[in-house]
Amino acid sequence: MILRNLYGFTLEELETEMEALGQKKYRAKQIFSWLYVKNVSKIDDMSDISLKFREVLKEKFCLVKPSIFVKKESIDGTIKLLLKLCDDHRIETVLMPYNYGNAVCISTQVGCNMGCAFCASGLLKCNRNLSVAELVGQVIVINDILRNEGKKPISHVVLMGTGEPFNNYDSVMRFIKIINSQFGLSIGARHITVSTSGVIPGILKYGKEGLQINLAISLHAPNDTLRQKIMPIAKAYPLDKLMDAIKQYSIDSNGRRVTFEYLLIDGFNDGEECCNELIKLIKPTFGYVNLIPYNEVMENKFKRPSNIKIHRFHDKLMKCGIKTTIRKEFGADIEAACGQLRAKYASKS
Ligand code: SAH
Ligand code: SF4
Repeated sequence: MILRNLYGFTLEELETEMEALGQKKYRAKQIFSWLYVKNVSKIDDMSDISLKFREVLKEKFCLVKPSIFVKKESIDGTIKLLLKLCDDHRIETVLMPYNYGNAVCISTQVGCNMGCAFCASGLLKCNRNLSVAELVGQVIVINDILRNEGKKPISHVVLMGTGEPFNNYDSVMRFIKIINSQFGLSIGARHITVSTSGVIPGILKYGKEGLQINLAISLHAPNDTLRQKIMPIAKAYPLDKLMDAIKQYSIDSNGRRVTFEYLLIDGFNDGEECCNELIKLIKPTFGYVNLIPYNEVMENKFKRPSNIKIHRFHDKLMKCGIKTTIRKEFGADIEAACGQLRAKYASKS
């Protein structure tokens, strides 16, 4: 019989499992506490559960985390992991130490099929979706490292690693429930951000979940002509439809504002005209903008604009009343751009 990974269950699901085993519901909370508060790595160590029931658990469940295949540490404190999954696939997970807390950037799929021209993640096609246990496992492995180093655990989670989260919708939502649960990792909804390349059905569904989680949209261009050049999804979901979906999302989620991620690529989308178009497009949504200076990857020709250009773009948006940030760049010395490390080690075992 295949053992199911305990990290893959929401509290409600585990309660149902416990009841099916003739146990009281509270057993699930006890197990959650061992997994997420007391951080055991073996069912045997769950010492307030009877030996007899621990044996029953071991017949049905396991406790498996991804293993660390490569670990790179930057001088700025960023840690980038290449994790190995049970079937030998590798995924990237990045720890980013902000002054407001430790954030982890997690992958949602093995590779990505969206084919964005600028992205190293897309160099390797999506083999499969990550399971809930593999999503949770990424946070657990990073927390293990932080604990060993005497540092504070993860307080912020961004789903901005490899993969399109809304193409793995159900597992992503169950993952969020687990990390958000007060009996799990207690990561506040406002500290969780899901980033999508613009999968409209996902955006609409997400708006109706009634959650306080942040939504980021990878916009990267202010019109369809430019956007289609770098993001194939722009053909399936053009900007007018995308903006309608965002409006609907705002209504359904009680006025939550989205963050538009805008990659700044030298000579492509960083000029004054693009800036004006961008302002027109997003002003009515009351959304925020997060400018991402392009992180150059070997495999394509795109370049990062100069700091002067980046700041000019930023200042213009701010002047027009759009709250804009420039994304802090982490781990430039350790191939921290989305998908870079995985692509580098693709042929090594
Ligand atoms: N697939 C989702 C989430 C993962 S990508 C999405 O596209 O939104 C997370 C962010 O990193 C996206 O905004 C993506 O466009 C950006 N990104 C990808 N490659 C990059 C690079 N080389 N430099 C900077 N940002 C990059
Ligand atoms: Fe996939 Fe996002 Fe990379 Fe596009 S930017 S290829 S959607 S991971």
